Amino acid sequence: MAEETLFSKIVRREIAADIVYQDHLVTAFRDIAPQAPTHLLIVPNHVIPTVNDVKASDEAALGRMFTVAAKLAAEMGVAEDGFRLIVNTNKHAGQEVFHVHMHLLGGKALGPMLS
Ligand code: C5P
Repeated sequence: MAEETLFSKIVRREIAADIVYQDHLVTAFRDIAPQAPTHLLIVPNHVIPTVNDVKASDEAALGRMFTVAAKLAAEMGVAEDGFRLIVNTNKHAGQEVFHVHMHLLGGKALGPMLS
């Protein structure tokens, strides 16, 4: 089994976070250092360190992350104007927390994606 992470502790509510959604597969919370007016992180409740570690048995949680992203984008009022989903993987993408997480960014024009 993969090691526990900071995000595991948030999922189990052992570390404070502004959780906006949780079910038996995924948890969503506000990013502690928001890069846009709406900046959420959506994580599987179980640890998957990076996208490189994804297995078929993770598909339910990974699929749910998209369903929850759509639901929360609508609830946060960013769906119509648009938003961005990002999953960073390893050092070239700047991944800091080794527990797969989807950033949901919206609430302003985000500019070009690639840099
Ligand atoms: O994709 P990456 O690994 O770089 O993103 C990690 C994200 O986790 C950062 O945006 C950081 O602000 C966020 N974070 C958080 N709460 C913590 C620690 C990190 O929201 N306690």
